[in-house]
Parts: sequence; C-alpha cells; structure tokens
Amino acid sequence: MTQTVVITGGSSGIGLESARQFVRQGHRVVLCARDPEKLASARAQLHAEATEAGARVETHVLDVVDQQAVETLFERLGPIDVLVANAGICRQARLDDPHSDQVWKTTFDINVHGAYHCIKAAAKTMPEGARIVTVSSNLGKNARAGYEAYTASKHAVLGLTKSVALELASRQIRVNAVCPGWVNTPMAMADSAYTAEQQGQAPDEFRRRAIAQIPLGRMVEPGEVAALIAFLASDAASAITGQSYNVSNGEFFN
Ligand code: NAD
Repeated sequence: MTQTVVITGGSSGIGLESARQFVRQGHRVVLCARDPEKLASARAQLHAEATEAGARVETHVLDVVDQQAVETLFERLGPIDVLVANAGICRQARLDDPHSDQVWKTTFDINVHGAYHCIKAAAKTMPEGARIVTVSSNLGKNARAGYEAYTASKHAVLGLTKSVALELASRQIRVNAVCPGWVNTPMAMADSAYTAEQQGQAPDEFRRRAIAQIPLGRMVEPGEVAALIAFLASDAASAITGQSYNVSNGEFFN
C-alpha cells in the first residue's frame, strides 16, 4: 500500500538518499528543506526512479525552526505514515570562539527544536503503526572538542527519540534513531574543510589522515545510512522501538 513518507532535510545527503529508498518502494515521498533550488534538483535526481516505481515525489520549502509552518504543512499533507526527522546542521565553535553563543542557539533551534516540532506535528495525524526515524550522530553518544553544540544537540535527539517512543507505543508507533559516523555529504565536506583550515592542513590531506583512523578505512556513504533508515521504517523492524543504531564503519562502540 502506498504510504506517505515525509523527510526533512530531504534535498541533499542522507535525506536525499533516504528519499531514494522510499521512492523505490513506490511511496508518496515528501521532501522538506529550506532551499527551493536544491529541492528542485533533488526532485529531478529522483525522477527516473520515481517514474519506474510509480512513486510520487513532492517538495516543500520548510524551515523546521518555524513551528507554525511545520504544523500548517503537516496538517495539509494528511496522515503521515513515516517521518524521517533528518534536517540538521553541524557547526564547530570552541567555548572561546566569538560566535559560540550563536552557534549553540542556531544548532539547538534546528537540530533539537526542529526535530521536536516535526515529531509533534506528525504525531497528530499519524495512523496506528506509523514510524518515526530520527537522525542523531555518533556524537549523540560520544563527544569531540569544539563540537559542544552539535554533540549536546545530538544527545538531545536521542533523549527525545526514547521518550517519544514510550509515549507513542500505545498507538503502535515505533520511534528509533540512527547514529551515523562520518558520512560523505556536503555537511561533512564543509566541516572537514573548516577543521583542515584551523589546523593549517590541506583538506585532502586532513581527510586522508582522518579516514586512516576509521576501522573500516573509509567514510560512510549516505545510501548506507538510508538503508538503515529504510529498515527501521519497515515491517522487518516491527519489534524495534526506542533504540539507536550506529552506522559508522566501526567508529565508536557505544
Ligand atoms: P546535508 O547538509 O547534506 O543535509 C542537511 C539537510 O538539512 C539539507 O537538506 C538542509 O537543507 C536541511 N536543513 C538544514 N537546516 C534546515 C532547516 N532549518 N529546516 C529544514 N531543513 C534544513 O547534511 P547530511 O550530512 O545529509 O545531514 C543530515 C543529517 O545527518 C543531519 O541531521 C546531520 O546532523 C546528520 N549527520 C551527518 C553526519 C555526516 O557526517 N554527514 C554524521 C552524523 C549525523
């Protein structure tokens, strides 16, 4: 049966590859993100597979920080079977960075309040048996200096995931989180370029050294995170709720 799958931050990286998974299953896939041009490009990239699978792709400009906008859109979409709360940002700022307060606020606005707005609005219309997958990070369970805002925000996403899982269990709605490691997306490229600059290294050399520290010796591809998201949203995961799973090429064990 065709399902309505809403993916926030669906215009690139992990969100776009998650959309591809649900498109291949022939669903109605709703991509929400801030940039209309990126949304149009994402839609074009999914067009051939959507046509082949009989899926429908919709795009909506949405800032997840704007709670009223989230509620209005989700109500208009009708019952949501699957929500992938993926939209997020990653900005580094050490405590003595002049921008650290702003980074803290913006990071929490998007990564935490945004996820909360989407989960709350989606839960209003979700049918029994619906699924929510949040996108945390392996920094949701661990820590890295200079990533205070991001680390704290992704810990908060895991707390939110577990609490909502308990609250919605009586409606058979399952809620789980994925915790990606270092994923080959525009976000990770921008972040590693910034770190390389801070350390006076060339970005390629910095990435080569960082990759050498990863047990499986490579970055995670966004499709590999998307496969885990699709699994958690599938009936194969019918007994799984309130859990979080790393997809990190062996980086961190907790
Ligand atoms: P990305 O930059 O390619 O995608 C982020 C998406 O979020 C974009 O579509 C962007 O438009 C959207 N977005 C950002 N702010 C938004 C807002 N206020 N409202 C609506 N949409 C917004 O990055 P990605 O790596 O695919 O990141 C996706 C998720 O995965 C994020 O939550 C990120 O924290 C998480 N993650 C990424 C990595 C990694 O290494 N790339 C690792 C762990 C977790």
